[in-house]
Amino acid sequence: MAEYYQPEIETASREEMIRIQNEKIVKQVKHVYENVPYYRNLMDEKGVKPEDIKGIDDIKKLPFLTKNDLREAYPYGLLGTDLKDCVRIQSTSGTTGKRVVAFYTQHEIGLWGACCARAKVAVGGSNEDVCQVCYGYGLFTGGAGLHGGSHKVGCLTLPMSSGNTERQIQFMMDLNSTILCCTPSYAAYIGETLAERGYKPEDNKLKAGIFGAEPWTEEMRRSIEKSLGIKAYDIYGLTEISGPGVSFECEAQTGMHINEDHFYAEIINPETGEVLPEGEKGELVFTSLDKEGFPLLRYRTRDICVLSREKCSCGRTLVKMAKPMGRSDDMMIIRGVNVFPSQIETVLLNEGYSPNYQILVDRVNNTDTLDINVELNPDQFSDKVSEIQGREKALEAAMRTMLGIGPKVHLVAPKSIARSEGKAVRIIDNRKLHD
Ligand code: ADP
Ligand code: ZN
Repeated sequence: MAEYYQPEIETASREEMIRIQNEKIVKQVKHVYENVPYYRNLMDEKGVKPEDIKGIDDIKKLPFLTKNDLREAYPYGLLGTDLKDCVRIQSTSGTTGKRVVAFYTQHEIGLWGACCARAKVAVGGSNEDVCQVCYGYGLFTGGAGLHGGSHKVGCLTLPMSSGNTERQIQFMMDLNSTILCCTPSYAAYIGETLAERGYKPEDNKLKAGIFGAEPWTEEMRRSIEKSLGIKAYDIYGLTEISGPGVSFECEAQTGMHINEDHFYAEIINPETGEVLPEGEKGELVFTSLDKEGFPLLRYRTRDICVLSREKCSCGRTLVKMAKPMGRSDDMMIIRGVNVFPSQIETVLLNEGYSPNYQILVDRVNNTDTLDINVELNPDQFSDKVSEIQGREKALEAAMRTMLGIGPKVHLVAPKSIARSEGKAVRIIDNRKLHD
């Protein structure tokens, strides 16, 4: 039997959810128009007044916000309350450029914690659990978010932060951690280290993992589940909207339920800004419906995904988003072909390689080059050059089928690619240096 943290919201009827959203958006637009001059200007430019927003369907009339707006308005330009009403600042990881900051009132900290608590309960978390949080603590939202959720549910919380893998393992074993929270790349590393220390998957007490903050494939999920002996669940979020817990996976493991009573989601065509119907792939846009301190409306995430309102077996009625394929700016255009790192990861894991890889893009004589360094597992390692070359050719052929272009694959020695303790850096694009 599924358990919920806030059943009245998580299993609300469609009518009830629309009623909540209608009520909140009217209030929120008025609040933002009156208190955020930056956004008021955008609305004025577009000729939209708060009175034009009578319900959630009118949201289409509002202007978008982008990361550039956040950088322009940095640091205080998008605040919706007095600074004295804010109690926390967090910052993005800066994966795609200059970091931006977000502010939280006491109310927003509570709301964020509740969203993460929904995620915890959805993976079977309760006050019986020991929750090991090894997302980074500090400015990054990963640690603070999952920590808050863990407290709300009453889990015994281990605020490990990331890194120091030996200590992670010692505490995991000594204190019988049952839920692990970190990036999927770090979970893979912990699994690998446990095996090296001679532990079998059944030696730990973990039952579930809540992994997010970076894109990961279904193949990666299966590999982590196997190495740690757990069920691995996805969680999604971004600092601008609050942090992890904007959406979370349930027992069905087929996409993440969006906490749409707080964060209204749309999918748009990234070129035209047109709102796309349910089921179509496009850029995810969020409106925070009831944050007053940092109330972003129609914020373009640059994450590419699909929404679905198909009935979920867990009983939740919250709309679901598919795993993001990566960001629109993660997509590499190589010799005119669109390539996502997730496609490369899928091939590697399907072909029996480790999830330790690095993608190198460059331009030589005006032609794009794609090189992929892939680490061999210790049991694949061989001194025979011909054997390694044969493996490289086979992997190149499999990549060509998936990507539509042929990369050069280089198999490298076990442990030669740096492990990630937070968000993994997979792509090195040197073309930018020559432009
Ligand atoms: P930055 O944008 O600098 O990385 P954040 O730390 O706020 O800052 O990260 C938010 C971004 O991380 C999201 O927009 C998304 O691209 C990525 N992300 C977060 N969770 C997931 C997930 N479960 N799957 C794929 N990508 C994710
Ligand atoms: Zn569900």
